[in-house]
Amino acid sequence: MRVVLHLNTIVRRLYSTCTLSSSTLRKFSTQSHYNMKTDVLQVDPSHFTFKESSCEFGEQNAISIINNTSDQLAIKQAVKWLAQGEAIGIPTETVYGLAANALDASAVSKIFAAKNRPQDNPLIVHVSSLKMLESILPHNKIPDIYMPIIKRCWPGPLTIILPSSPLIPSTVTCGQPTVAVRFPSHPVARALIESCGFPLAAPSANSSGKPSPTLASHVFDDLNTKIPLILDGGPCNVGVESTVLDGLRQPPAILRPGGVTYEVLKQMEGMNGLQVYRKHFVDQALEMAPTTPGMKYRHYSPEAMVVLIEDDKMIINNNDDTQQQQQRQVFETIWQDELKQLLKNGIGIQKVGILKIVEDGDSLEWRQTSKLDEIEYVTLQMGRQGHPDEVARGMFKGLREMDTIGVDIIFVQGVPEIDEGMAVMNRLRKAATKTI
Ligand code: AMP
Ligand code: MG
Repeated sequence: MRVVLHLNTIVRRLYSTCTLSSSTLRKFSTQSHYNMKTDVLQVDPSHFTFKESSCEFGEQNAISIINNTSDQLAIKQAVKWLAQGEAIGIPTETVYGLAANALDASAVSKIFAAKNRPQDNPLIVHVSSLKMLESILPHNKIPDIYMPIIKRCWPGPLTIILPSSPLIPSTVTCGQPTVAVRFPSHPVARALIESCGFPLAAPSANSSGKPSPTLASHVFDDLNTKIPLILDGGPCNVGVESTVLDGLRQPPAILRPGGVTYEVLKQMEGMNGLQVYRKHFVDQALEMAPTTPGMKYRHYSPEAMVVLIEDDKMIINNNDDTQQQQQRQVFETIWQDELKQLLKNGIGIQKVGILKIVEDGDSLEWRQTSKLDEIEYVTLQMGRQGHPDEVARGMFKGLREMDTIGVDIIFVQGVPEIDEGMAVMNRLRKAATKTI
């Protein structure tokens, strides 16, 4: 009889034992003040509107209007928790955020505790107006380099690096002389920050290391009983985190690709010679700094093994039907060969997940299952070929869904690093156990 090593199952069992004991520890060390079921309040983004002022940056200094009583009550409840120094889950256009008062070191420490986030990974501060931004900067001055970018990209999925000030606790910056700031475009996040009257520090609202949450249910799965409230504003429409832009460097650099693309940013005033970190340059000082985006820690990873099949083995022309079909064939051949090899090596795999891109004409059927030789295959799609924005929205959801289904291994189809494809590949490479 063939001895089959159920490696992944063993690893997973070990992992869940660790998770149990560490979360129990966390409860006693830092969460003893809050261990009740987390409330989830629905909010409808379409009930939030913004009245622009007539000055030059009218959109960036607009005032929110909430047109519905239950949404007003939800925001009031959220403000109450935040003003008391608690951390809560909130929708943003990128991914769900775990927000706390950015000017209150004790509130910020609850973010790190609830997520189990390493203490040296700095947070992004979220503002709802340029006035609020100026109020936290040295001499209330926004560096000139950012003004054209703010005008065009804010509110939106872009974070900029600014000089920090003594108002920002060192828990937010992790002792760096700079602070990362974003002005989110999600109506609920904007109105909430404005109602608070203070900026919110907010990383993604997942347990550290897990795929980022793009639905309120993802936040609940990771943080139930660790935080008092989640505002459920529906699915995030960007689906990957913000682009982190350092315009204080010369030439300017994208430290993390995200919702605002390299192609858009490089066209903008002041962005001559724009570089992407790790793609166009590597900097020894940045490499050592805790701020190097997602380099130091395992990121975005589901519990199952992830095998990423990069697209350089494939054809790049997205608009050609025959090439799209060939591309799918290449992906299928590579993952099937890899699976055969793993099985030959005695790795016990019972459920296989395939996370793929569909062709333009294909139906967007979300799930397909089949069984062959005692192995179950589940196929989910992230989005259509040639629509990297769609793939960005579907990627984290797909990774999380595979864990819920309980697959042992996920084969993921890579995309070309064009537009949002750059952010998608950045996340998938960090999630991958193996890249082919
Ligand atoms: P998130 O984990 O999505 O909250 O993103 C936070 C990321 O923003 C960090 O991991 C850093 O990579 C980046 N970041 C935050 N603050 C700074 C900073 N002061 N300088 C450079 N990057 C920063
Ligand atoms: Mg994160």
